[in-house]
Amino acid sequence: MLRGPKENENAAASQCSVCGHHSDLVELPGLNQKYCSECSADVATSILLKTEINAAWLAGQRYESLAAELAQLSRRLLERAQST
Ligand SMILES: [Zn+2]
Repeated sequence: MLRGPKENENAAASQCSVCGHHSDLVELPGLNQKYCSECSADVATSILLKTEINAAWLAGQRYESLAAELAQLSRRLLERAQST
């Protein structure tokens, strides 16, 4: 899982797990973490991409473009985590 570099584990329930914002938090189904609206969209997309990559891999299809997209998304989330 992607996690912010912040060391406030106890406060994790009330802030975004990625960027640390305290507003508009949403909980994604199946995940024990909360994200702000902006991060939740990216996290949801990354989960979707991982699923698609898995499916493509299992089907023996090419998934390079999906993997590149996922890498880009992960980088964006990481940058956001570090910018706050
Ligand atoms: Zn966030």
